[in-house]
Amino acid sequence: MAIKIVQSDKLNKLPPYLFVEIDKAKRQARQEGRDIIDLGIGDPDQATPQFIVDKLYEAAKDKSNHRYALDAGMSVLRESISRWYKKRFNVGLNPDNEVLPLIGSKEGIAHFPLAVLNKGDYALVPDPCYPPYKGGTIFAGGKICLLPLLSKNNFLPDLKRIRQTVLKNSKIIFVNYPNNPTAAVATDEFYKELIQFALKNNIIVISDLAYSEIYFDGFKPRSLLEFEGAKDCVIEFHSLSKTYNMTGWRVGWACGNPQLVSLLAKVKSNIDSGIFQAIQIAAVAALDSGDSFADSMRRMYQERRDVLAEGLKSLGFNVNLPKATFYLWSKIPKRFGSSIELAKALLDKTNVVATPGVGFGEHGEGYIRFALTVPVERIKEAVGRLGNLTK
Ligand SMILES: *Cc1c(COP(=O)(O)O)cnc(C)c1O
Repeated sequence: MAIKIVQSDKLNKLPPYLFVEIDKAKRQARQEGRDIIDLGIGDPDQATPQFIVDKLYEAAKDKSNHRYALDAGMSVLRESISRWYKKRFNVGLNPDNEVLPLIGSKEGIAHFPLAVLNKGDYALVPDPCYPPYKGGTIFAGGKICLLPLLSKNNFLPDLKRIRQTVLKNSKIIFVNYPNNPTAAVATDEFYKELIQFALKNNIIVISDLAYSEIYFDGFKPRSLLEFEGAKDCVIEFHSLSKTYNMTGWRVGWACGNPQLVSLLAKVKSNIDSGIFQAIQIAAVAALDSGDSFADSMRRMYQERRDVLAEGLKSLGFNVNLPKATFYLWSKIPKRFGSSIELAKALLDKTNVVATPGVGFGEHGEGYIRFALTVPVERIKEAVGRLGNLTK
């Protein structure tokens, strides 16, 4: 007889996975051969640019790349990241101690709390949010204080509302602009206020910039590290996943305050053993030569955004045109009781998948997220089908 296996208290504490039912219904629909349009997943539908794939292929054939990579990442990659940062944000980063390559930014974000939290310390976590902020905090034994992201505050957290007793025991705050799932962007005023808040209360800022390169209408997201005082309190996470259609490759980086970067490196040196060097070399090609690709990618998402937003508005959805990210965050029409009810109805009656807002946290209730990760023809088809639902 098998031994008795009981999951840990930490796993028990993770927020419930609310997509179970939708996932099951989606699998079932696919099995039945229904023509599903999946606007649910935040994973680019297009291929990685060929010049990056070619670079990987070439580097994979070189046997000197087959051994363990250095934990700290190859210096060619750290230098390329530093050059890219200077060009994109006009921020200087020392490649030797202010940059750390990651096995995808999710990995670094989820591990970072282990570097700084002790049992009972608070993490200030936006809600709705990208799930690893909560998971990483729980694995590190921290407590979560939710910062509601509300429409009336343009989905920015209200730092003045955090209770003094929580503030005293807070070690980290997560921010993510351009934001998943709300598609909101940060203002300069908010970033300045955030840095003052962090310095005054001795709180580390974890800035997740996964969507920095997906922007429209002349808006260009800024790095939090552009702002005065940021190097004293900020670690920023970047990803190649969304910018160059490289979600499966697993490569990103952390950068900013050198002490924070080195603490994360210390955690990771006990967990992983670096990124396959051929991937690091391909990442250098992406960062050094990927600008024109990124331009065409933005034009593609912009067209999709315009078609879907226009379509949803004509059907009575209350949706803003996002300035960045590949998501539309829409209020659910009043006659649906909850975001899960709407998502179920969309799937059952129109074979369109979208993500219920409540899956990203309790303050996501009342919203639904559409991802622009299918071709524009399919988006038009989806809008047509939604028309039938709302009739
Ligand atoms: C997609 C995403 C990431 C990260 O992706 P990696 O593939 O792990 O680099 C990080 N943050 C947010 C908010 C995302 O949506």
